Amino acid sequence: MKPSPNLQATLKVLHLSGIAESLEVRLDQAREETLGYLEFLQIILQDEVERRHATSVQRLLKQAAFQEQKGLEEFDFTAMPGVNPKEIKDLATGLFIERKEHVILYGPPGTGKTHLAQALGNRACRSQYSVLFTTAAKLFRKLAAAKIDGSYEKAMRSFLKPQLLIIDDLGLTGFTQEQTEAFYEIIAERHHTGSIVVTSNRPPGDWPGLFPDQVLANSLMDRLAHKAHHIPLKGESYRKRGRPQKVTNS
Ligand code: ADP
Ligand code: MG
Repeated sequence: MKPSPNLQATLKVLHLSGIAESLEVRLDQAREETLGYLEFLQIILQDEVERRHATSVQRLLKQAAFQEQKGLEEFDFTAMPGVNPKEIKDLATGLFIERKEHVILYGPPGTGKTHLAQALGNRACRSQYSVLFTTAAKLFRKLAAAKIDGSYEKAMRSFLKPQLLIIDDLGLTGFTQEQTEAFYEIIAERHHTGSIVVTSNRPPGDWPGLFPDQVLANSLMDRLAHKAHHIPLKGESYRKRGRPQKVTNS
């Protein structure tokens, strides 16, 4: 049964696009299954709720600016026996964001750090948390450029606002004094407002040596690393898998 144009117009005015979309099918279903009034109302309102949820997840995923949509489902835990699946799945519930805790994923290249960080971010979006993914290089580049054009506060806010900030590849190189101060500000400001997921090729124990200012470095480590879930990734690069084997003439 087609809903009348009047009804469609009313649903549009009320921004009930989820109901508008499913109404025709639901009216047929109501007839066939002789649904009660309340039951019918319940079903179409649920359609609206689901549609709104899906739209908001799509918006959050877009805002998160992931490099790739990597899910936890695609992560092969058997390939990384050092990683405890239960620990990752617990983090994927988003409780660490609720508690404003941090996560540090570290290990050699190709062990799935960026994959896992994005998978946690993806789950966070699905649980309605706002997320921003950035590489450390991009974050510092943005802040440095913003300092020049007078938009530093705005740029800094963009890193403070999301409930979860993911910083990929921290510590590939040493930090300048300016970067140390900016990073300290992010850690200190976010301390009470939101979580950070960091990936790094270096274990957190090596980080202090990357900072020129040991006072800031200690304070920073105290706030970030000492209160984080540490996830070490070990072993062979996953990228090497599937590469043709070298043929040796023996
Ligand atoms: P890292 O950030 O540690 O250098 P990535 O997360 O970029 O490594 O992983 C490299 C590639 O291998 C990516 O395409 C990633 O999806 C894949 N990968 C890594 N580990 C796994 C895994 N355990 N299961 C499935 N894919 C993996
Ligand atoms: Mg990476």
